[in-house]
Amino acid sequence: MLYDLHIHTTASDGTSTPEDIVMQAEKLGLLGIAITDHDTTAGLTRGMNAIKEGAGKLDFIPGIELNAEINGVETHILGYFINHNNRALNNRLYQIKQERRDRADKMIAKIQDIGININIEQVKQFVKGEMIGRPHIAQALLAQGYVNSVGEAFKMYIGQGRPAYVNRYKFLPEEAINLIHGAGGVSIIAHPGLISRKEFIYELIAMGVNGLEVYYPDHHEEQIRWYRDLCNKFGLLLTGGSDYHGYNNKDSRGRLGSCGINQAGMDQIKNYHKSMPKLP
Ligand code: AMP
Ligand code: ZN
Ligand code: FE
Ligand code: FE
Repeated sequence: MLYDLHIHTTASDGTSTPEDIVMQAEKLGLLGIAITDHDTTAGLTRGMNAIKEGAGKLDFIPGIELNAEINGVETHILGYFINHNNRALNNRLYQIKQERRDRADKMIAKIQDIGININIEQVKQFVKGEMIGRPHIAQALLAQGYVNSVGEAFKMYIGQGRPAYVNRYKFLPEEAINLIHGAGGVSIIAHPGLISRKEFIYELIAMGVNGLEVYYPDHHEEQIRWYRDLCNKFGLLLTGGSDYHGYNNKDSRGRLGSCGINQAGMDQIKNYHKSMPKLP
C-alpha cells in the first residue's frame, strides 16, 4: 500500500488525463498520489475533482516538477502541497509557457529556412496540454512525412546542436526551490540518481531543499541506501514515485504505483509541512 508521488498527465507530457490517473490509482488501491506535471499546475484541480468519495478515499497531494538547470547541469525540483493559486508561482509559470511558445515559433522558422514546410497549426495538433515542446514539432515532421520517426526528427533537426535547435529557459535551482517554498510547498530533489554532477546534491541541500526522491524506478539498491543515509544525516525528507507518463509512453520510468512511500513516510512529510512557517 503506497503513495506514488511522481506522476505526469496530459497537462504536461503524460498521455493519461488527470481523471484517468485517478481512476487507475483507485483501481490499484493506492493510498495516495501526487500529480507532478512539468512546470504547470493545470492538472491539479481536475485530478482532485475526479477522486471518488467514500471509504479508502484516495489521498491527493498537489504537486509540480520544475525543470531547473545551472552551468549545464540539469536538475528537477519537485514541490508538494503547493498552493497553486500563489501569484509569484503562477506568474513565473505563465512566463515559462509564453517562452515555450516563442521558442516553438523560432524553431519552426528555422525548419522552414531549411526548406521544410511545416507550420505552427500542424504542430499544435499534437499539443494536449498547455505546454508546447520539441516532441510536438517532431510529431508534426513525422505526420508530414519529412522524417520516418520522432527520433529521426531529433537527430536531424531539433536535437541539441542540430540546425533547428533553440535553447529554452529553465529555472535556476535556487529559484525553483524558493518558488515552491513561497507557494507554501515542500521542495524535493527529483531522481537524484539522474543528476550528472553528484556534488551538486550538496549544493542543493545548501540552497535549502527539504528532501530527496530516494525511491525511484531507475535507482539501484546502492543508490537508495546512499540517499537514505544522506537524508538521515541532514535531516531531510525521503520521498518516492514512479515518474509515470502514461501507458506506452517512452518517458514513463515505471508503472503507476511501482514506486513510492508508505503511510509512515507520508505522515513525516505532512508533519514537516505543517511545521513550516506559513507565509501571509
Ligand atoms: P523540450 O522540453 O521542448 O526541449 O523537449 C524535451 C523532450 O523531448 C524530452 O522530455 C523528451 O521527451 C523529448 N526528447 C528529447 N530528446 C529526444 C530524442 N532524441 N528522441 C525523442 N524524444 C526526445
Ligand atoms: Zn516528463
Ligand atoms: Fe524529472
Ligand atoms: Fe518527472
